[in-house]
This record gives sequence, C-alpha cells and structure tokens, in this order.
Amino acid sequence: MVDRLRAGYPVSRSLLILASLLVVVILFGGYGYYHVEAVRINEDKYLELAAIGELKSVQIQQWRQERLADVRRPTRSPFFRRSMAVWQRSGFSPTLRTEWQERLQSERSAGFDDALIVTPAAKILLSAVEHPDPISPATQAAITTALVSRDAVLSDFYICPQGRVHIDAIAPVLDAHDKPLAVLIQRSSADTFLFPLVQSWPIPSKTAESLLVQRFDNEVLLLNGLRHRRGTALSIRFPLTRTDLPAVQAVQGKRGLFRGHDYRGVEVLADLRPINDSPWYLVAKVDADELLAEARYRAIIAALVTLCLLVLAALSLGYGHRYQQTGLFKELYQIERRQREEGEEFRTILYSIGDAVITTDNAGIVQRMNQVAEQLTGWLEVEARGMPLSLVFCIINESTRAIVENPVEVVLREGRVVGLANHTLLIARDGRERPIDDSGAPVRDEDGVLRGVVLVFRDVSFQKQAERELQANTDRLHSVFRVAPIGIGVVLDRVFLEVNPKFCEMTGYAEHELLGQNTRVLYQSEEEFVCVGQEQAQQLRVKGAFSTETVWLRRDGSVMDVFLATTPLDLSDPAKGLTFAAVEFTELKQAREDRATMEAQLQQAQKMEAVGRLAGGVAHDFNNMLNVILGYAELARQKLDPDNPVSEYLKEISHAGQRSSDLTRQLLAFARKQTIMPKILDLNDTIAGLLKMLMRLIGEDISLHWSPTAAPVLVTMDPAQIDQILANLVVNARDAVVGVGLITIETAIANLDAAYCDRHVGYIPGEYAVLVVSDTGCGMSREIIDHLFEPFFTTKELGKGTGLGLATVYGIVKQNNGFINVYSEPGCGTTVRIYLPRASSPATAQQECLVPEKELPRGTETILLVEDEASLLAVTVEMLEDLGYRVLACEGPGRALQVAEEGTVVIDLLVSDVVMPEMSGRDLYERLEVYFPNLACLYMSGYTADVIAHHGVLHEGIHFLQKPFSSRDLAIKVREALTL
Ligand code: ADP
Ligand code: MG
Repeated sequence: MVDRLRAGYPVSRSLLILASLLVVVILFGGYGYYHVEAVRINEDKYLELAAIGELKSVQIQQWRQERLADVRRPTRSPFFRRSMAVWQRSGFSPTLRTEWQERLQSERSAGFDDALIVTPAAKILLSAVEHPDPISPATQAAITTALVSRDAVLSDFYICPQGRVHIDAIAPVLDAHDKPLAVLIQRSSADTFLFPLVQSWPIPSKTAESLLVQRFDNEVLLLNGLRHRRGTALSIRFPLTRTDLPAVQAVQGKRGLFRGHDYRGVEVLADLRPINDSPWYLVAKVDADELLAEARYRAIIAALVTLCLLVLAALSLGYGHRYQQTGLFKELYQIERRQREEGEEFRTILYSIGDAVITTDNAGIVQRMNQVAEQLTGWLEVEARGMPLSLVFCIINESTRAIVENPVEVVLREGRVVGLANHTLLIARDGRERPIDDSGAPVRDEDGVLRGVVLVFRDVSFQKQAERELQANTDRLHSVFRVAPIGIGVVLDRVFLEVNPKFCEMTGYAEHELLGQNTRVLYQSEEEFVCVGQEQAQQLRVKGAFSTETVWLRRDGSVMDVFLATTPLDLSDPAKGLTFAAVEFTELKQAREDRATMEAQLQQAQKMEAVGRLAGGVAHDFNNMLNVILGYAELARQKLDPDNPVSEYLKEISHAGQRSSDLTRQLLAFARKQTIMPKILDLNDTIAGLLKMLMRLIGEDISLHWSPTAAPVLVTMDPAQIDQILANLVVNARDAVVGVGLITIETAIANLDAAYCDRHVGYIPGEYAVLVVSDTGCGMSREIIDHLFEPFFTTKELGKGTGLGLATVYGIVKQNNGFINVYSEPGCGTTVRIYLPRASSPATAQQECLVPEKELPRGTETILLVEDEASLLAVTVEMLEDLGYRVLACEGPGRALQVAEEGTVVIDLLVSDVVMPEMSGRDLYERLEVYFPNLACLYMSGYTADVIAHHGVLHEGIHFLQKPFSSRDLAIKVREALTL
C-alpha cells in the first residue's frame, strides 16, 4: 500500500488515459455534433429553400394565371366582341375609337404599362398610350400561338426600346364564328411586379436569390435580373453543357435539391422546380458558404464548448489528480506516522513486556530483543543483533539434556505458531540453566509473506517451584483427606462429587455408590433435608460458613448424630458447591448425656456423704450420752426393789433412751458407720425367715407376695442389715398403698456388664444378687425420687415418718458395695431394686451366741478399761464391777500404759474406746500386748473407726461393742472376748 502510494505513477497514468479518453470522447462528440448539426442545417436550409421555391413558383404561376385571366376577361365579353365586330365591319369611327381608347386606358390603369389591340397580323390598331412600342418578335410569336390556340397566352420577356423588360398577355378576340377579329395585348413591365417577386427573399439572407430561367435551344436564359449583378435581365445565357449550373439542371428536368456552382462559379445549394403551364423554371439558391456559415458557427460553438469541456476536463482531471496526490500524500503521511507510532508502540511494548521477546528476520537472524530476554540469555541486544538465533537462544530438554530444536526454526519451516514446549531448559551465555516456556509466532506482511518470527519465552523457575509446592500441598491435603478421622467431601448441586473413606465408613456406603448421589439420601425425611438446606443457604449467605448438628441415615437404615460443617467452594457464589466435614457424635452425645447423669449422681453421692458425716458425728457424741443415761438408769433399777414405783420411772427412762439409741443407730447405718459382722448367707432363706415379721408389719388389707428365684442368692452381709432393709422397704410400700394392694418381694441374680457400669457412678461390673420390693401404691414424682435417700426427707405427716428409712437402706447397701435402683411413677406403684454383690461360696451357718435374758455372764478377771469420756467411764466401771470383774479404769491411753508398766497386776482384758485424743484403741492394744501377750481386747465405739475396721467391717477375731450398750451387751461381749 505504502509502496503503491509512494509510486503514485500508476494513478497518474490511469488518470492520463482517462483524460485522453475524455478528450477523444469530447472531440468525437464535438465533431459528431458538428456533423449532425451540419447535416441538419443542410436539411433545414434545403427545406427552407424548397419552401421558398415552392412559394415563389406558386406565386409566379398565380401571377401568370392572373395575367391570362386579365387578358382573357375582356376578350370574352360580348360587348367587346360586338364592338370589335362593329369596328371590323365599319371601321373606326371617332366615337368608337374614343370609346376603345377609353377602354384601353381603363385597362392600362388596371396596372399595365400598356393595353393594345392589334390585328391578327400584329398591326397595332389602338393603344392606350399615344406612342406605343412596336410589337416585339416575342409578342408576334405569342400572337400567333394565341390565334392558333384561340386562347390567351403570355409572350416571352422582351426588352422594349426603353430598355425595360416587358411581357405581354395576349388574347384573341373572336367573332361569333370563332374567327379572330383582333388581338388584345396587355403589356406589363417585369420590373414592376414579377421580377421583384422573383427576386424578393422572405427571410434575411446575404446570398440567397431565385432565378427564373427558360431554355432556348441549347442554352438556358436567365430571365430576371441577378441579385449580384445589375441589368442582367435576359442578358445571361449558359450552354446546356454547363451541367454544374443549377439553371442548366433545372431546364433539363431535374427537380429538387441540387448542389452545384452558379454563374459566379460559387458553390451553391439550389432548389429546382418548373413553373407549371409555362416554359419557366425557378431556381432558388443560396451560397453553400452562407449555408455552411451557420454550421460553421455552430461548429465553432461546438468546438468552443468542446474546448471548454476539454479545459474543464483537464482542470478537473488536474485537480482530481492533485487532490488524489494530496490525499495520497496525506494518507502516506498518516500511514508513516501510524507506522512510526506503531513502531514506537511496538518498541515500548517490547521493552516493557514481562516476558522475554526476541524477534528475528526470515532467516532466523536476531533483530530485536527486550531487557528480559537480555537477562535470561545473558546477551545484550546490541551484541545479539545480526547473530543467528540458535547462538543466542540455546535450549535443551530438561530430562534428556538433548538440544531441542529452536521454535523459530520450526516456525520458519512450517509457517505456523509453535506452542509452548514443556520441560525445556534455557542455557544462558554464562552457562546458567533456567526452565522456560517458549512459543514462536510467524510475522507476515500484507501479502502473507513470512517476514520473520517473534519468539516469546519466560523463566518458569518460580512457577515450577510453585507447581511442585502446590502438588506437594495437594498430595498432603489429599492424604489428609484420605486418612482424616472425620467425613469430608465435596458437594456440587446437592450431589456428591468427592467423599473420603471415613465418610464412606460413617455412612456405610461404598464410594462409587455415593458419587453422583443426591445428598437427600442421608436424611430421614424430605422436611429435614429441606430444613437443613434452607438453614445452610441462609448461613452461607450471611457468614460464609455453616455448621449444625443433625441426624443422618446410614445405608443400613440406622441413624447417627452428626456434627456437620460446610463452606462454599466459591465464597462469591455459595450456591455453586461446597465442601463439608462431618463428625459422628452418636456416642459422644450418649456419653454427654451419661456424663450429665453421672455428674448428678456424683453430686447426690457427695451430698449423701456430707450428710452422712454430719449424721455420724452427731450420733457418736449422742451415743456416749445415751450410754451414760441408759447405764445409770439400769444400775439404779437393779439397785431398787422392783416394787418401788421409782423403778417404773427408771424403766421409762431406759425405754426412751433405747428408742433414741435406735434412731442414732439408723443414722449410723445411713452414714455407713454402723458396725456390722457380715457373713455369707442365702437371701432366699433370710427373707423367708423374715416373712412372718413382715406380714405383721403390713397388716391384713395388703397381701404380700414372695417370689424367690430358684437358685440360692448368696451375699456376704450382716443378716441384721437385711432385716433393716426389708423392714424399711415394706413399711414404705405399705404406707404407699391406700386400702387394698399388693406388695411383692422377689430375688434374682443379675449380671452387670462394664458398659452398664460405665454409665453409673459406683457401679462395678459383676454378678449381683437382686432384692426387689414392689408395690401397687401411689408411686412417686421425679422430685420425690431425687430426694428419696436424703435423711429426714419425708412426705409423711409429722410423727408418722422420720425420713430415715431409705437413708438407712442407702447406707447399708453402699456399705455392702451395692446400689439401688428405684422405678416409680405417680399412680403406677413403685419398684425398688437392690443390687448386692453376689457371694461365690455357700454360707456356713454361723451359730449365734444366744444368751438367756436373765443370766448375764459374769467373771472375775482383771479388766483394763480405757475411756476418755469420764461419765461413761464411771458407769462402765460400775457395770463391770457388778458383773464381778476387777476393773482398772483409765481416762486415757497414757494412764493405761502407766498401769501396765507398773506391772502390779496381770491384766486379762483391755476394754477400750477406739477414738481417743492420744492414740487409737488399736495402738494402745498393740503397746499393751508387749506386756501381756495373752491380753484379750474389746473395743467400744459410737461408730466404727478405720483403725479397727475397714469401712466399718470388722475383721475376724476383733471384738467390738457398739455404743450405747447395756449391761447385758457389755456382759456378753466381755465374756466373748475373754473366752475366744
Ligand atoms: P419415711 O418413711 O419415714 O417417710 P423414708 O426414708 O422411708 O422415710 O421414705 C421417704 C419418703 O419416700 C416417704 O416419705 C415417701 O414419700 C417416699 N416413699 C418411700 N417408699 C415409697 C413407696 N414404696 N411408695 C411411695 N412413696 C415412697
Ligand atoms: Mg420409711
């Protein structure tokens, strides 16, 4: 384009050709116009000539007819004829002559030069003028013709003696017998009318004239005077051989248009036509020059117009060319400017581009390179320019290290864009290697010819590193995904796209079963599915994350509690898809619930423990006091006569003391401070033995049903505690039943597994003997059950209930490592299950030492009595001495040791309190044993201290006396200790 613009020439040449063509067209057009105009003008002029010729010939013809008619008219009048006949017969009378004279005068006055009457022999008889011209030969010839034809004729033109051209109209005057009498001649001057008529030209013309000609033998005579020569009428003749003359042609019979030469030898255009009924011919002619003058004039106009057009064409062509040239230069300027700008832009782009760029020509020679390319190759642009690219840009395969074909060569060979080659290393000038991505593209000119190649490449070290890190990251994440102990997956449009093994394990589905599956499959109901979906959509919109606790369905139809958390794949469009993590917490939930229960139970147990300690403490000191009261009351009674009324009072005091003692015992039992002597026993037997007593307790309205299990139910326990348990439970059952009802006592064996025990504080897995007491009574509300075992909790009216029944049962069961389960609902009765650890071997029934009431065992042995409570010490001394023993009383262990050290007496038995300020009863015994190896021992206590018993359970061989005690209790226990 630029080249074409630069050349400019072809444009001018075509313009010139165009101009030439235009000139030719204009010239031809001009000439054509001229030619057509000339022909047209010729034709027009001829038509004009013909029209004028026609007009004149008609006028001449008319003139002739008029002349003939004029001459004929009088000759044919009877008057004329008669007068003539008279004149013939009788000659001219002067009158007649005068008459005729007058007549001819009147004829002449009609416009003639003269009027004559001549004889048939052409002798003038009369003339209107006095001296008439003689009869010309032409007239004579015409008279002859008229006489022959008996009609009027016109003579040829003749010149009169005065030199004027005359023509005579001649008519014979005939008598009755058609015999000519005379001849009437009307003489006209041709110059007066005819010749002017002939010569006149109706339109302005310089050369046009008409000629009246007549043939005379071999000549043609021009009748009228010529326009161009004076006095020529009847004087010019031409031989008929002059055929170039229109007059010759006319007389020879040619009609219409003729082009020839006139008498002057000038070229003329003539119209030739005869005058009818006459020997004359009319030649109307005009000079060819005049004729062509107009055509020439038009030709000049046409030529001028053509010239103008040519000039105009040339001007416009020139202007057009100039305009075109200007346009072209402008365009060229614009293009060059654009090219410069583009070049500048290209340079700017090239040097500011982030990738390395090298351009080469079509031979692979470096043309340009940017700074990035300089850095990567180690070549400067100035150095590299003109070098073959393979030298500057040297690449090898990353793994094989083989030289890789340069992309530029490929582009040059194949002429197409060559894409990025992977795993390519660029070796820089300094030998440094860098991984690169490269591509080459051909550069073509407008005609599609390959002009060079652009090579673009970039250092991908960072990218490779990033890719490696990304891959490692992905791998790590994937492994986390695979081994994560929580269910993870990706969901797209509510359909599983990816799930990890844990998720499959949780849900029980195989991976292929889940992929493509709708998440609805996990939900129990459509409502739940929709509800979770809506909540999720809302939370994702607001917070960008969602978490909830929900219930999912496993493949096998079982349900699980899950904690579900989701987050959208694309935060900007949460609806697109999401990742989720799900943790099953079915067990955790259970454990949580269990833990809550356990905590409540623990709290309850701790409360019971605290209350128990309180109760135990109170009972301990209270027992000592009771012991004193009971001891002295008993001693006093023994010393009194039974009939003494005071003895009765003392009995009441003892009675009240005893009841108080029962209460403290119950408290101690609850506080598990009751001292017991467990042994292996069969619950079935023990309960069977108690049935009678229980029947008495419940009365007649309520029936008692006893349903022991077939196998023996062995437990290791103090049988008195079984009494306590059953009595309390049955009394409660009785109180719950209004009117008629049923109480059932059952035994069973239960095997509690670890799972069960895990969820219950204090429960230990193992085999248990179960004692069940159920009733059809009023049942209990939750609140009552919650406080059931607390001491002094009762719903019964004052005086009826103490609130210690179930507290005692609780204490006993706990002391025996068992536990209680109460099931009750208001109005539905109550079932109390007591679990006691099952004993393995059958019991060897231990014979109880039954002592008859009246006979208290007595003795004389020496007893060392140690009691820190002085009043109790005093009463006990008295009791023992009453029983015959020798008593050494000490208020504390220190004193007792002193007595032993003194060694004055042998001590047989140590009766000691267990808990004392200085040392425990047990320590004291051990110290005394050194002095008296056979020393027996009996401990007394308000409760069982750990020093002698483990959780209140005494070991074999230890003797123990529960405070408060009676003389009887003391007597039996002392005897027992001394005996065994
Ligand atoms: P008390 O019998 O002196 O009230 P307990 O400790 O024996 O004390 O019982 C406490 C409370 O437990 C009772 O007052 C009663 O409300 C309720 N109770 C115990 N056993 C039953 C039972 N079998 N049916 C209904 N309520 C019972
Ligand atoms: Mg009770």
